[in-house]
Amino acid sequence: MIAMEKETTIDSPAEAEAPPPRRRVVRRVRAQNLPLVPMGEAVVFPSMELTIQINSPRSLRALDAALRDHRRVVLAARHVEEEDGESVEGLVPVGCLASITDIQALPGGGQRVSIQGVKRVRLRKVTQEDPYFRVDALELPDKTTDGEQMQDLMARVVSQIDTYVSLVPGITNEVGNFVRGIDDPGRLADMSAYSPDYTFEERQELLETQDVAERLTKVSGFMLRLIELAAIRQKVQEEVHAGVEKSQRDFFLREQIKVLRKELGENDPETALIDEFRGKIEQGRMPEAVKAKALNEVERLQLQGPHSPESGMIRAYLDWLVELPWGITTEDSLDLDRAAAILDEDHYGLEKVKERILEYIAVRKLAGDRMRSPILCFVGPPGVGKTSLGRSIARALGRQSVRISLGGVRDEAEIRGHRRTYVGALPGRVLRGMRDAKSCNPIFILDEIDKVGTDFRGDPSSALLEVLDPEQNHAFSDHYLEVPFDLSKTIFVTTANLLDPIPPALQDRMEVIELPGYTDDEKVRIAQDFLLPKQRDAHGLTADQLVLDDSAMHSLVHEYTREAGVRNLERELANLCRKVARKAASSAEAESQVWRLTASDLPAYLGPRRFTHGLAEERDEVGVATGVAVTQAGGDVMAVEVILMPGTGQLSLTGQLGKVMQESAQAAVSYARGRSADWKLDDKYFDQHNIHIHVPAGAVPKDGPSAGTAMATALISALLQRAVRRDVAMTGEITLRGKVLAIGGLKEKALAVDRAGITTFLFPRDNEKDLVDVPEKVRQHLRLMPVDHLDKVFSVGLVEQFGI
Ligand code: ADP
Repeated sequence: MIAMEKETTIDSPAEAEAPPPRRRVVRRVRAQNLPLVPMGEAVVFPSMELTIQINSPRSLRALDAALRDHRRVVLAARHVEEEDGESVEGLVPVGCLASITDIQALPGGGQRVSIQGVKRVRLRKVTQEDPYFRVDALELPDKTTDGEQMQDLMARVVSQIDTYVSLVPGITNEVGNFVRGIDDPGRLADMSAYSPDYTFEERQELLETQDVAERLTKVSGFMLRLIELAAIRQKVQEEVHAGVEKSQRDFFLREQIKVLRKELGENDPETALIDEFRGKIEQGRMPEAVKAKALNEVERLQLQGPHSPESGMIRAYLDWLVELPWGITTEDSLDLDRAAAILDEDHYGLEKVKERILEYIAVRKLAGDRMRSPILCFVGPPGVGKTSLGRSIARALGRQSVRISLGGVRDEAEIRGHRRTYVGALPGRVLRGMRDAKSCNPIFILDEIDKVGTDFRGDPSSALLEVLDPEQNHAFSDHYLEVPFDLSKTIFVTTANLLDPIPPALQDRMEVIELPGYTDDEKVRIAQDFLLPKQRDAHGLTADQLVLDDSAMHSLVHEYTREAGVRNLERELANLCRKVARKAASSAEAESQVWRLTASDLPAYLGPRRFTHGLAEERDEVGVATGVAVTQAGGDVMAVEVILMPGTGQLSLTGQLGKVMQESAQAAVSYARGRSADWKLDDKYFDQHNIHIHVPAGAVPKDGPSAGTAMATALISALLQRAVRRDVAMTGEITLRGKVLAIGGLKEKALAVDRAGITTFLFPRDNEKDLVDVPEKVRQHLRLMPVDHLDKVFSVGLVEQFGI
């Protein structure tokens, strides 16, 4: 059985304690025992008329009983999901007494019942379950008061209902009129429950509210929610509607534009694009043949629909054609003084290069365009200013500059482009560079020309030949472009670390200018006058804020870097500027502070000194001689080690020595063997010993004949057990008769020897002519000794030892 309200009184105790002042109706009624039809979540109000369908046998029996007893029945909702008239579980405490006005049998046994709600009733007790439910029901009359407050409440609810009706499409205004016609406030509140938007809980709450003012207040609250909901619904509706309208409108407009364009003879954007291409081609300065080809392509584009894949390719091709600087040249500035000033402004020293550039300007001034553009090739270790010189030339001449790097280029197509039939084809790097230059007479810097490789994809250097050859480059053909492009007005500047790897055919076409590296003093000047100001500027420091004296610069050059160029030096200076800039930015006082740094301050900023002594060996040793090599990083000293051990006369060579170097080693051994009698060595000595020659660092490949003297010296030192002087370095190719032959790169080698802190440098007498290249400063403190025979090398290089 369900739990029901207390039986005794109509009112709850709280209501009974506070007697209302002007009660219209105060009646005590007896409970009536009536048939009950339990419903689902449906709430019937007094004065409501509605039709319900009854199927449950128990409820049908209840209806029968009702028809027999004044047609009265109690309808009450249940808090259940499934409607089922067979149970009273979850029955609400307040229902509605209704009168049956009509009843119709339905096929299948059910009944359609028309009812009229009569009054609220409190369900006190279910008194019977079988064969149908009966309940003791107590009438709950409206508790109402007259007065302004009630009128106001009614007016508010009526106007809310009006608003609501206006917001919900499908409710006619009649509802508003009907509501206005109700003058009983309780009925007004009950009628509002016709709204389909009330929830079951809201309806039931209204039914259970006996106090009319309270009921109306609740209705007002519910209406507010409904109005808000309806307003949102309406807004969404409007937006959806507006969206549909806009797209329709756009469609019509677009159609109209099409029609208008047709009238004007300019079909669509595609036509505009085609006209744009045509205009650019006709107004540009393409050679006639190229123009004809371009217009041809435009025609092809026009025939293709805008959506064909071909049209994208044609468009890309035309873009390239019109973007290249056909016939566009910049005016050269041929003022020699100005050019000289600019070159000096950008670079310290490098007199030979600067002179060559000024000569070019002078000749050009006299000969005009008849003169062929030179192809300069700067060869030297990294960081000696090869690339930046190229830029500086452009500035001096007032030309544009572009740079491409050829390092690692192995595919001819990188230079000359892919044919247009390839997907994603592009012109080669040369023409891409020309497009960026926006003029056809720029300074074109080809970096790292010695790093161009060759493999199955073709030989890029043959394409480069065509680029650089003045006989051919007026009509350079790119696979993608298909039409020739004139490169003859371009000045090409190439850079390389080494000359050897450049194919001879390319070398022939270039004017090689060597930049062998700087002495310490030159580096200090470059750092003071160029690199430091540049880095200070880049880090937002003023010239007064950071000053390094020459001792600091020397320390940077000597103890923090070891290189032929100034790249690491510049990096260290940048490092220093960064550290100072950080301090300066930390406070207002620090900003006005001056940093005057000397050598001893540097470790605090840059960490401990990296190179604390020269590369010279630390003491005179047996079997170790100091040779000199020229590598990509400039000249460098290298130790040549020899040891002898009992064996069978084998020669081992380690340290990644190239073929030529291995032959030098063999020559040194043969020479020593040939002279063994002079040194009083046993005849069988060489058959009973193995010789191992090693040149560290083992992982770096080395080659060339110039280590011959050093190998021979180390070998003789080991054979005679006489130490080699650590302060002597040597270079030179040797013959089997002990003659010392000329080598290349004397200047780089002299610089490297000087850098390593060695005092005597033995070099082939044939190279004496190159001494002029060695900077004065180096010549002053390095003993440069020309030698023509190994005997002389030994006599200087080996430590005197009496008794042998
Ligand atoms: P490379 O191309 O030879 O490797 P870079 O042209 O990149 O060297 O030069 C490295 C840096 O050193 C650049 O900032 C350059 O301006 C500077 N530099 C090199 N040589 C000089 C010089 N003689 N005077 C002034 N700055 C120089």
